[in-house]
Amino acid sequence: MALREPPISVLDCLDRWDAREILVLEDRLHPGLRGACNLVDGRWLIILNRDDVPSQARFTLAHELGHIVLGDLSTAARGVDSAEREALCDRFAVELLLPASALRYAWHGRPEELALAERFQVTRRALRRRLRELGLR
Ligand SMILES: [Zn+2]
Repeated sequence: MALREPPISVLDCLDRWDAREILVLEDRLHPGLRGACNLVDGRWLIILNRDDVPSQARFTLAHELGHIVLGDLSTAARGVDSAEREALCDRFAVELLLPASALRYAWHGRPEELALAERFQVTRRALRRRLRELGLR
């Protein structure tokens, strides 16, 4: 199986998963809220926090895709007491944006952390955590 080349396109993944139309908007959200997704009139509406840096917004988009894959139809319906669900969607985002095989391959040349984060279009914090998790540093 061929390696997925970073950066992974989250919207391509969503397109392949779900044929419904997707609208991604950026808006100012309640502090502490990074994003939301809802099925509205037969199409997905994903809202990202416009104050987030692009790499964080990308992680949030992948996280919201996790909710869609899990069949969570709306942020409001999930309520606030869903820490386990949120952790699962974070896990989904990490696996999608930083696939182990592609990251191990890219790590072989021992690139600069910043260059690697830019290549995968993730935050340095997310990259560091994933490298530790995979036992690469
Ligand atoms: Zn969530």
